[in-house]
Amino acid sequence: MTFPVSHATVGLDPQIDPGVQPARLPTRYGDFLATAYVEPLTGLHHLALVRGEVDDGAPVLVRMHSECLTGDVFGSRRCDCGDQLDLALRRIAAEERGILLYLRQEGRGIGLSAKLDAYVLQDQGLDTVEANERLGFPADLRDYGAAADMLKALGVWDVRLLSNNPRKLAALAQLGLRLVERVPLRVPATDDSRGYLETKRCKMGHLLD
Ligand SMILES: [Zn+2]
Repeated sequence: MTFPVSHATVGLDPQIDPGVQPARLPTRYGDFLATAYVEPLTGLHHLALVRGEVDDGAPVLVRMHSECLTGDVFGSRRCDCGDQLDLALRRIAAEERGILLYLRQEGRGIGLSAKLDAYVLQDQGLDTVEANERLGFPADLRDYGAAADMLKALGVWDVRLLSNNPRKLAALAQLGLRLVERVPLRVPATDDSRGYLETKRCKMGHLLD
């Protein structure tokens, strides 16, 4: 597979430095090619895990996953991030073609320590949106410009997006990609995540039944 790395292919105002040689990354889900992209403005290192040929023009299954240390690594039941990551990698492996973008915007962009502060407020009765606002943050600070640039650098323009989040769908279109299909990502609620998921549905418009 080829990785176009010229800024000319990324767009006029790229938010990322395209990666160098992708590294083979065998996982419990199957083999991926891993490329790190540095966002010059923030110094953040985002990761693309690529399975199969994705630059052939056919729509590509894509998951844009924002880092959640507590959910992804430690199996936190406060959110559905770890389960969504697991399910997305399974789906991509099952199709043997697709991309997982691991975006380093912890806690919907507010960072790890503020996220833990928000958990304390949630245990005092605030929901996830109210807690962020109490701490002086918007409900969702995430930005998908780097993600869009990574997809373009990988030669991908037509996307089948694994997501329940309408904000991501709108962001993709604004960033010059074509959204061909939304593929729902359904993770069952637990006793600990039910309130959080309900807030995402009611206040943030997530498409969860
Ligand atoms: Zn999470």
